[in-house]
Amino acid sequence: MSDPPLYTPLEDERFRALVQNLADIITIHREDGTTIFESPSAARILGYGPNGLINRIPFDAIHPRDRPAVQAGFRALVAGLSVTDPIEFRFRHAEGRWIHLEGVGTNLLHEAGIGGIVLTSRDITQRKLAEQRIRHVAHHDSLTGLPNRSLLRDRLTQALSRARARDELVAVLFANLDRFKAINDSLGHRGGDELLRQVAERLRGCVRDTDTVARFGGDEFVAVLAGAADLPVAVAVQKILQVCAEPYDVDGQPVVVGTSIGVAMHPGDGRDPDTLLRNADAAMSAAKSAGPGTFRFFTSDLNARAHESLQIEAGLRAAIQNGGFQLTYQPKVDLATHAIRGAEALVRWTHRGFNVPPGVFIPIAEESGLIVQIGEQVLEKACRQCAEWRRQGFEFPIAVNLSPRQFRQQDLPATIARLLEQTGLPPRCLELEITESTFIEDPDAVAADIANLRRLGVLISIDDFGTGFASLNYIRRFAFDVLKIDRSFIEGIPREQGHAAIVEAVIMLSNALGIEVVAEGVETAEQVAVLSAYGCGLAQGYYFSPPVTAEEFTALATQRPFALLPGFV
Ligand code: C2E
Ligand code: MG
Ligand code: MG
Repeated sequence: MSDPPLYTPLEDERFRALVQNLADIITIHREDGTTIFESPSAARILGYGPNGLINRIPFDAIHPRDRPAVQAGFRALVAGLSVTDPIEFRFRHAEGRWIHLEGVGTNLLHEAGIGGIVLTSRDITQRKLAEQRIRHVAHHDSLTGLPNRSLLRDRLTQALSRARARDELVAVLFANLDRFKAINDSLGHRGGDELLRQVAERLRGCVRDTDTVARFGGDEFVAVLAGAADLPVAVAVQKILQVCAEPYDVDGQPVVVGTSIGVAMHPGDGRDPDTLLRNADAAMSAAKSAGPGTFRFFTSDLNARAHESLQIEAGLRAAIQNGGFQLTYQPKVDLATHAIRGAEALVRWTHRGFNVPPGVFIPIAEESGLIVQIGEQVLEKACRQCAEWRRQGFEFPIAVNLSPRQFRQQDLPATIARLLEQTGLPPRCLELEITESTFIEDPDAVAADIANLRRLGVLISIDDFGTGFASLNYIRRFAFDVLKIDRSFIEGIPREQGHAAIVEAVIMLSNALGIEVVAEGVETAEQVAVLSAYGCGLAQGYYFSPPVTAEEFTALATQRPFALLPGFV
């Protein structure tokens, strides 16, 4: 046993028995802090052995953060204060862990039989841990264990005030997984959860311990990189994209998923959490449109763009209600005879007196889902017009563009069948143009959908061929009727050898497989000549005619064929 107590102030036997059995710790100290008495509970709770604190000044076992408050209370007692308010502090257990105590100090320096500062401390460790657990649950995402939105906001607020004080930058990264919905559907929810956990872990591993990675919701994560002055943010983001692009292992199955990241920087792109998060989100959307696995820094026109999108969306809703969409028609011309062999219907929308190009409003309609209703109106108008032309003796089919979202509609075949029935158009006079981005997601399902539509008797064409991810293999894999070579390839003719060679190969392969080829965006006589020489069947472009109204189209179709170039018949 260590040194016996120097001093035994509690003479009264009953009182001594009480102290012996007390759960609370009672210690008595001299004015300089030296412990002159400890109750047995001190050894039990703090682990320093019986009388382990005696003759020691125990302040250095108090957590450095809590020490000043305890010492200040003690000094006040020595100076004459009779009793302190309760003080919470952490005391180091002999084994190294922290014990949470709540102590009250009483000045009994002049009390006969005691003559010291008495501290009564209660072990509140269990309560503190429970509080911490509750706080953790309230502030963390249960799936990934990452901070949730509310803790993110706190951390970001703290990071911003530190950064302001030190004149530093803070980078807010908004990350979103590409195609997560499709992956989640195919893996099942358990697999999707597992994937999210692994993504969280990788993101955590990419940043410093002092940085925050939070789950913002669904497949959205936010990282806050503080004191970002010393690290080039683009390098950090690039590293994250690289790490996240590695295949994940979900139940033994390799899964590849891209990540899109938007970055907003304090103070340039915002000074408060809301603005920074909103701007990083806008930059993320821009990154997504730029392609999978990319990142973008916020630029102020993104904000204007987001605002504009909302206005356009509202305008589109109104236009759906009052039939505000018009169609124009662009001829598809036979390169051998220069006769019109088809028409592509292209939607037109005038909003507040301005002609808004489809390249602007179609993506917004697609994102908001409005494309389904717009598309149905377009289909109906186009079918009606084509039926009308047939009554006037023109035989050509009408081509209508279908966006990926429209194509994924479960009831699309039923809708098409109904529209054909209503307008009296024979199925073989309707051609549906789909782009490569439609079948990149789930090629097998799309192959089945294409087959379903073709069973109705309508024609399927692949639009903008060569711009997406499609390869020449798709020409064999998907049963379709028409292939439209994207304008960007035609543009390169005849200057760009590579483009010309690709165009020639695609035409040859398609002809061999009995697929009709249309060259898009044909603008020059030279292009017409080269394409004819390659054996291209049809062409569409300003060289022949821009998209025109139905009446103008009727006039074009009534005319003689477009003039043939001398030498190419
Ligand atoms: P797209 O289906 O590839 O349509 C061809 C686009 O190229 C049209 O642009 C057309 O005006 C333009 N074009 C035609 N010939 C030439 C040419 O010689 N030179 C140049 N520079 N351009 C030419 P538009 O009408 O602005 O449509 C753009 C895209 O919007 C379309 O590309 C299509 O993907 C989409 N779109 C248009 N109408 C609809 C629609 O009703 N529904 C859906 N889902 N998408 C549509
Ligand atoms: Mg098209
Ligand atoms: Mg096209």
